[in-house]
Amino acid sequence: MKLNPSFNRSLWVYHFNTGSCNGCEIEIVATLTPRYDPERFGIKLVGSPRHADVMLVTGPVVHRMRDRLLRVYAQIPDPKLVMCIGTCGISGGVFYDSYNLDGPVDEVIPVDVYVPGCPPRPEAIVHGVVKALEKLERLEGVGT
Ligand code: SF4
Repeated sequence: MKLNPSFNRSLWVYHFNTGSCNGCEIEIVATLTPRYDPERFGIKLVGSPRHADVMLVTGPVVHRMRDRLLRVYAQIPDPKLVMCIGTCGISGGVFYDSYNLDGPVDEVIPVDVYVPGCPPRPEAIVHGVVKALEKLERLEGVGT
């Protein structure tokens, strides 16, 4: 797989919760455990959006998180990818008709990869990362 030079060492990931019930967070943490060990591929969680290549977004974007989501998204340097983890971020999920939602996520920021499930299992999240890498590969092909 040949990637954009900006991504050729590793994918550093920043996680942002826009109002999730915490179920998706537990699965993201499970994905990072030694059982799946994504760090062996250079995929690791970072504490600052300024260090990240990929943003994992969970939750249906409650009203109070909309501006924060936009601000954090803007802090991630380009080129960047957004992965929406869980049905809530994709469609609103069980909260779809809440008075308090500004989501789904792709109505606020652009999303590159959707990982459905309530919550998605770690295998699905790893599959989403593979899809993200494939998208980068396609973008690289288009650009050359
Ligand atoms: S998709 Fe399911 S597990 Fe994830 S935040 Fe929504 S309700 Fe919770």
